[in-house]
Amino acid sequence: AEAALNRAGQYASLNAFLHIDPELTLAQARAADERIARGDVHALTGIPLAHKDVFVTRQWRTTAGSLMLKDYVSPFDATVVTHLANAGAVNIGKLNCDEFAMGSGNENSAFGVCRNPWDPQAVPGGSSGGSAAAVAAGIVPIATGTDTGGSVRQPAALCGISGIKPTYGTVSRFGMVAFGSSLDQAGPLARNAKDLVTVLDTISGFDPMDSTSLQDCLGTPNIVGRVQQSFDKASAGYREGGAKPLQGLRIGVPREYFGAGLNSEVAAAVEAALVELEKLGAVRVDISLPNTELAIPAYYVIAPAEASSNLSRYDGVRYGHRATAYRNIDEMISRSRAEGFGAEVQRRILIGSYVLSQGYYDAYYLQAQRIRRLIVDDFHQALSTQCDIIVGPVTPDVAKNIGDNNEDPTADWLADIYTLGVSLAGLPAMSVPCGFGRNGTRPVGLHIIGNYFDEGRLLAVADCFQ
Ligand code: GLN
Repeated sequence: AEAALNRAGQYASLNAFLHIDPELTLAQARAADERIARGDVHALTGIPLAHKDVFVTRQWRTTAGSLMLKDYVSPFDATVVTHLANAGAVNIGKLNCDEFAMGSGNENSAFGVCRNPWDPQAVPGGSSGGSAAAVAAGIVPIATGTDTGGSVRQPAALCGISGIKPTYGTVSRFGMVAFGSSLDQAGPLARNAKDLVTVLDTISGFDPMDSTSLQDCLGTPNIVGRVQQSFDKASAGYREGGAKPLQGLRIGVPREYFGAGLNSEVAAAVEAALVELEKLGAVRVDISLPNTELAIPAYYVIAPAEASSNLSRYDGVRYGHRATAYRNIDEMISRSRAEGFGAEVQRRILIGSYVLSQGYYDAYYLQAQRIRRLIVDDFHQALSTQCDIIVGPVTPDVAKNIGDNNEDPTADWLADIYTLGVSLAGLPAMSVPCGFGRNGTRPVGLHIIGNYFDEGRLLAVADCFQ
């Protein structure tokens, strides 16, 4: 823990951390030491980690990257935080992110951009940019993140580390500052698949405090140990395969993920990874996910709609920022919101309120929900009849330079093309490093997508590949 705190100080220019309190951290570390001395040891006891600043914590501030919550301290811990604390993991601090997790480069944080450890000119990705940067810089071996439309997978890809978004409903959303409730899902970022298994297993499980938490779905009880067990089972099978561990694994390669707009260096790195997977025994199957492009308009209607509803709680009354000058209650609310929310958040609230309003609801929101169903059907068709997993790029390009898309906020939205469909469908998916672009300076991630509850297999494939 001391080494992690030191390293966080050494890399302060990355701006990965928003709140560090060494005393709190060292108290947790001492408790872990005592636990180890007693012989009460979990795989994560004494392991330093850090939380994206959308997980509420009783001891550390929780800002969600927003001025609205600049000084907010939660009266309770998020379930994810509790699970990791119960395992004895030591929290190093809270990590920078896009405001309310809305963004793709950590540039929407009210507390400044976070930099990519591979190249300080580059964004680390987002919205879990601080999480990816802290792991890539070697400050912590593990960080928590959240993925609503790609925010674990995309920063993991752009920072050259691994990250997984599990099946929707398998990790509790209790205590995660809400963005798009039907999409939000927590996931870990780490340096390799095995570490992801341990963390994901620790944070998964039914939680009565989250109404969308899964207890027993499709015959797959969401028991503690599920991820570890299915990973062990898949890995054992692969180990028997010797030099061809992935013998017979059918890998679906969606045509639509390799169209115009995919950078040639990213395409080459992903292609090389596919050749590698074939060498390990996997069989490549051409598939089609015809509604891929429609994921962008569908997501950018549904996510803002849910955000506009979720963010209505920030009214300057109960908690969060309150304007100091106002003449009446309406002005107090509107000024508090105008001062507290940044441009991207305001943009999403406006879009969300518009698509939910009477007269437009059918044309936009309902239509987006219909597209969502078509996207689910595309994945279902592929994963039930043609292939076991789906592989492709995570992002159309390597990390861009900080400030590149300042003129056009929707440019970032288009770059979410490969990650949004998975989120709309609630499927598990991960990113694993597979190469570099820009003369070896900017990492490329490989996207591995699976069927519901198939996290164990995804992680076992990633482990073989790594
Ligand atoms: N880039 C997407 C957005 O801005 C996804 C963000 C996320 O997954 N939290 O909405």
